[in-house]
Amino acid sequence: TGSIAKEPPMHIVHISVEMAPIAKVGGLGDVVTSLSRAVQDLGHKVDVILPNYNCMNLNNVKDFHYHSTFSWGGTEIKVMFGKVEGLSVYFLEPQNGMFSVGCIYGRNDDGNRFGFFCHAALEFLLQSGFQPDILHCHDWSSAPVAWLFKEHYIHNGLSNSRVVFTIHNLEFGIQNIARAMMFADKATTVSQTYSREISGNSAISPHLGKFHGIVNGIDPDIWDPCNDQFIPVSYTSENVMEGKRAAKDALQQRLGLKRSDLPLVGIITRLTVQKGIHLIKHAVWRTLEQNGQAGFSLLSKAMFLHPIISSHHFCITALYITVFWVILLYRFINLMTLLQVVLLGSAPDPRIQNDFVNLGNQLHNSHADRARFCLTYDEPLSHLIYAGADFILVPSIFEPCGLTQLIAMRYGSVPIVRKTGGLYDTVFDVDNDKERAQAQGLEPNGFSFEGTDAGGMDSALNRHIKQLTSKLFDLIMGFSRAFPAWSNAREWFYSLCKRVMEQDWSWNRPALDYMELYHSTRN
Ligand code: ADP
Repeated sequence: TGSIAKEPPMHIVHISVEMAPIAKVGGLGDVVTSLSRAVQDLGHKVDVILPNYNCMNLNNVKDFHYHSTFSWGGTEIKVMFGKVEGLSVYFLEPQNGMFSVGCIYGRNDDGNRFGFFCHAALEFLLQSGFQPDILHCHDWSSAPVAWLFKEHYIHNGLSNSRVVFTIHNLEFGIQNIARAMMFADKATTVSQTYSREISGNSAISPHLGKFHGIVNGIDPDIWDPCNDQFIPVSYTSENVMEGKRAAKDALQQRLGLKRSDLPLVGIITRLTVQKGIHLIKHAVWRTLEQNGQAGFSLLSKAMFLHPIISSHHFCITALYITVFWVILLYRFINLMTLLQVVLLGSAPDPRIQNDFVNLGNQLHNSHADRARFCLTYDEPLSHLIYAGADFILVPSIFEPCGLTQLIAMRYGSVPIVRKTGGLYDTVFDVDNDKERAQAQGLEPNGFSFEGTDAGGMDSALNRHIKQLTSKLFDLIMGFSRAFPAWSNAREWFYSLCKRVMEQDWSWNRPALDYMELYHSTRN
């Protein structure tokens, strides 16, 4: 990277259909904004071209004004300009009303609309006399930039540009993705493990030579517990417990949960099959059920019957004492396996949404004090959950990178994840991944599990309890040490929260990797 620093600044133009926070559906929108900001901070010029949707919140666009108009594709295209999170954005507004439909995705002509947008964006660059070094396009929706550029523009005024194509999720629009893979100068996906997982796909396998995995980062200014208007007390790793305590209280109060010291598991996700819906449901029930309840009642019964016999047999009295301690142990494990759970999620599929609405109602009746479902998209609430949760669960079936676990760590919440894609690259299990973490210069930072059945996830959910129960042996040995044992276990957990907060999951490193990649298109 030393040699790159001496190179003249580059001009990079992102052509994208999502951009956080004004037009965000998922991680793609976050990446366009935060990667652009990181690259701009390194001294390069970055612009974004976006459709001018009528469903955007323009409060987050500064200095929004008319820029120009050009004719293309049988319509006039009005161009507006504004600043979003410090980035220059050109908003294309075809006068045929293509983007005035009240949503980003979900129309049956999405492919046509975005194809039109890509072509219009290239035409705008050409007609405005821009000479970008890099055209960066994303997923199936702006994939057409790659071939439209090579077919119509490379010999026609934009010859200086190179195309970089990033796959955020191979699930969608595979035909577009395969075609863009052919035409792009370089292609990336959002973690190394995901790049390996998809390398056998026929869209990818012929192009492995120009295909790279670069893990996403998060924008440390947008996700900053030290400066976050949505949480009650600002905090850093120095006062993490104080800040998280206040956020947890505020969250519990807002959602009507019992103001208790139970560990709180947060889930923030689109509710789709990819995100492990069945595991999410299982986890919710698992966190609510009282483990050992059956054993407890069985043993209680034994205790009740027991005095009748014990007067006759001394050895049974010994058994009585043992049983007493076992019950005590069960009760403590019980207390510690009780959790609270908050789910913030929305499902694009109305059937799944309904399913969760029903489950939410059911829980509201049976476990109002310990479970709450917020089945909507709510960015401010997501901040409070990231800050107030002890754990953030991400049980995805596959996950190209995943941002939730990174945001969780920034707020000192411990991630519990399924070992896949970017989750595997960023979460290192406290029990099993010490060496793998060290190879990255990191300390372990969470819990992870394999498999797609509930058993693996249960054991990851339970393992934090195992760490705590090892301290329980102290408890069994004598009450005098009970309190220190309990607080020791807490100290272990607090130090883990502090540790995850101090790890750097920003764009600092990935932005340099992207710059290296941008430069390599010119070799
Ligand atoms: P994906 O892009 O597949 O949805 P990521 O983990 O890459 O998954 O990004 C998800 C982003 O969307 C995160 O910033 C997360 O906080 C946010 N998010 C997901 N669901 C919601 C919701 N219901 N309300 C607010 N934010 C959400």
